[in-house]
Amino acid sequence: MNTVTQESTRQWQAADAQHFLHPFTDHAGLARKGARIITRADNIYLWDSEGNKILDAMSGLWCVNVGYGQQPLIDAATRQMKELPFYNTFFQTSHPPAIELAELLAQVTPPQFQHVFFTGSGSEGNDTIVRMVRRYWDIKGEPARKVIISRFNGYHGSTMAGSSLSGMKGMHDQGGVIPDITHIEQPHWFEHGRPQNLSREDFGLIAAGWLETKILEVGPERVAAFIGEPVQGAGGVMVPPSTYWPEIQRICDKYGILLVSDEVICGFGRTGHWFGCETMDVKPDLMTIAKGITSGYVPLGGVMVGERVARALIDEGGEFNHGFTYSGHPVACAVALANIRLIQQLDLVRHVREDIGPYLAQRFAELADHPLVGEVQSCGMMGAVQLVKDKAASTLFEPDLEVGMLCRAHCFGNGLIMRAVGDRMIVAPPLVMTRAQVDEMMALIRRCLDLTLAELHQRSWL
Ligand code: PMP
Repeated sequence: MNTVTQESTRQWQAADAQHFLHPFTDHAGLARKGARIITRADNIYLWDSEGNKILDAMSGLWCVNVGYGQQPLIDAATRQMKELPFYNTFFQTSHPPAIELAELLAQVTPPQFQHVFFTGSGSEGNDTIVRMVRRYWDIKGEPARKVIISRFNGYHGSTMAGSSLSGMKGMHDQGGVIPDITHIEQPHWFEHGRPQNLSREDFGLIAAGWLETKILEVGPERVAAFIGEPVQGAGGVMVPPSTYWPEIQRICDKYGILLVSDEVICGFGRTGHWFGCETMDVKPDLMTIAKGITSGYVPLGGVMVGERVARALIDEGGEFNHGFTYSGHPVACAVALANIRLIQQLDLVRHVREDIGPYLAQRFAELADHPLVGEVQSCGMMGAVQLVKDKAASTLFEPDLEVGMLCRAHCFGNGLIMRAVGDRMIVAPPLVMTRAQVDEMMALIRRCLDLTLAELHQRSWL
């Protein structure tokens, strides 16, 4: 147990500001405020260095699917560190944890997936996707097929290829986009469909049609693949209309284009099936996996390679000049094995699909009566509320007001980790949550919405 004082918090904050460059952070701003120091965790709760208990409604960073403190994962890491802490999988060598994990992944993923390529993270997974799909088309004698289509406001990582696939302007402005990656608009009904009085289903077909328009603009003979998250996570938990993904599949099939499902967030039970593509009823050629594969206890990512691509790589491709020191890291693989077995043992995927996911949806839907809430969406253990200025007219706040950040500050101050994406407040809590814990989270969310509303009135912004 930590015995920490305000003094040690200040020392940590000072050292942090002095030496530590954080991801996606305004460093000067953070140095002025001081970082919050998280010192321990258990189940769905965190504690900071001041002793405050916080409900972690974001599962760390969308990854701690089984919750904190799970002994089987801790034991697996300890055992593997003693047995074989590292060996590579280059140069005709392999080891039991990587082999057993590859075998288990072939069982829990959809049937077209019999092979996995391991990486260290989701970003490396998507870099691997870019190299692998281009290699596939080379092998198939269509080297002109280089272009990969993704979506604005999608998120696929922060390496050069990952950030290029991502559709985030703020990232593209800092470092550009690698050649032959292009984007289409996201299937966001609230922004694009609702103002035109389109039903969600009709809008879903139109939004998928933007892919076909782009394919024809680029030239089908130049298009290699389409990549998307089944439910966009970092973009704001954007749950697409039910018609969207099947139509995307139809269009990819029509032009022979590879379909890639980025399952870094949606994988390993979060949407109520093992993988988000199953919830969306599509059959991708490739899947990016990470995060929930180890519940974030240690870093691991990978690409599930469907038979269409695997056969070309294996039977016709010769050497694929790609790989990482940590491809199939034994400790990470041992933890992933323990994690997946625990998900199976606790029947967590069914828990999300049949119990806690529907309960979260029901409790989230109740937020629709709040004066600040314009739209509520959820899918499995992911949820979003769109804050609006005028509920009746569905008018959004001016972005400069940063109302989402204001709400997030109230969450921070009231023991709740909830994320703000613009004015969309989102959660993705651990899958092990109980109904009582969902109730506890919802009470905190409602309190923070009320506090935000009161502050907006006080500032005369409403
Ligand atoms: N794809 C998706 C859908 C993600 O959400 C993320 C990370 N949030 C990534 C890829 C990148 O994963 P990593 O941060 O492990 O590189």
